[in-house]
Amino acid sequence: MDRIFLSPPHMSGKEQTYIAEVFESNYIAPLGAFVNRFEESVEAYTGSANALALSSATAGLHLALRVLGITQGDYVLASSFTFIGSVSAILYQNANPIFVDSDESWNISPSLLKEAIARAPRKPKALIVTHLYGQVCKLDKIMAICKEEGISLIEDAAESLGARYHEQQSGTFGDMAVYSFNGNKILTTSGGGILVSENRTWIEKAKFLSTQAKEDYLHYEHKEFGYNYRMSNVLAAIGVAQMEVLNKRVERKREIFALYKKYLDDIAEIQFMPEIEGSCGTRWLTTLTFEKTSPKKIIDILDKKNIESRPLWKPMHMQPLFKDALVVEDGTSQKLFEKGICLPSGTSMSNDDIEAICGLIKGAL
Ligand SMILES: *Cc1c(COP(=O)(O)O)cnc(C)c1O
Repeated sequence: MDRIFLSPPHMSGKEQTYIAEVFESNYIAPLGAFVNRFEESVEAYTGSANALALSSATAGLHLALRVLGITQGDYVLASSFTFIGSVSAILYQNANPIFVDSDESWNISPSLLKEAIARAPRKPKALIVTHLYGQVCKLDKIMAICKEEGISLIEDAAESLGARYHEQQSGTFGDMAVYSFNGNKILTTSGGGILVSENRTWIEKAKFLSTQAKEDYLHYEHKEFGYNYRMSNVLAAIGVAQMEVLNKRVERKREIFALYKKYLDDIAEIQFMPEIEGSCGTRWLTTLTFEKTSPKKIIDILDKKNIESRPLWKPMHMQPLFKDALVVEDGTSQKLFEKGICLPSGTSMSNDDIEAICGLIKGAL
């Protein structure tokens, strides 16, 4: 049997047609019509005013911090329960992260966020919040706190492209936001990211920095340093084809979750990641915790049947890299990490696959 992966790429079928157009035009690199089309499709879908196609979401977060003027010695708040790509840019800027733990939503806790602001050695300049596994965090409370405190809000919507909160797309609430098109995300360009903002000046500045910060001269003139962070036209062609099926992919991700829930709901020790009121997440990965059973045992049993599953993200405040970082935590994400797993959630997997996986889990319990 072929291995069942957590979230493998799922092509729409149109990608190669668009790539062929790129080859015919010979705009293989660097930029070209498909980069513009890809950015426009993300703007149209999400409702954000300005999108910038980049080599990754990590690059997008780096540009966001640069544009917002985060620099050496500054403090940046961040969800602790997330993937490293969410917070590496804080280190790129020689700034100091302050990690904030989760609450019962599994996403950042608004009350611990307030505590973190109160305990920060200096006023933090920005907050990076993750919409974990495609589920939206408590945006209304988070936005209110940021507004009151004068802290810039950056949404890490890497996993939540297509998620909504009160009918508005995730990634359009903060000052800036990123979506990821990495290989395992809900859509993929093989690797890539999009930075969005309502603020046109910021996106223009990010674009300038993403293309080596070349000043507007015939020769190469530089007043500051930039990066080589733009997306290629070939990858943007894949992105355009992928955006056409985003609704279908979100629908299928949610269906996969519903099937897991149906088959496993009668097991008292299993708890699924919640969905906060007023939101509709992408269920990028179906995730759950076991009250008694060790996740490692389940992961091993599935692996023997050539099925990939994984522990939940290890919180940033538990990482050796951040042993000296400031953190406000109450054990919530640590417990989730110790008890939880991600189940295969690829949109091309069959309903029978899901039933079989649930059979294996039930057998193991
Ligand atoms: C994947 C991911 C990133 C990084 O995205 P890239 O496009 O791979 O750089 C950042 N944050 C979260 C929460 C992610 O899941």
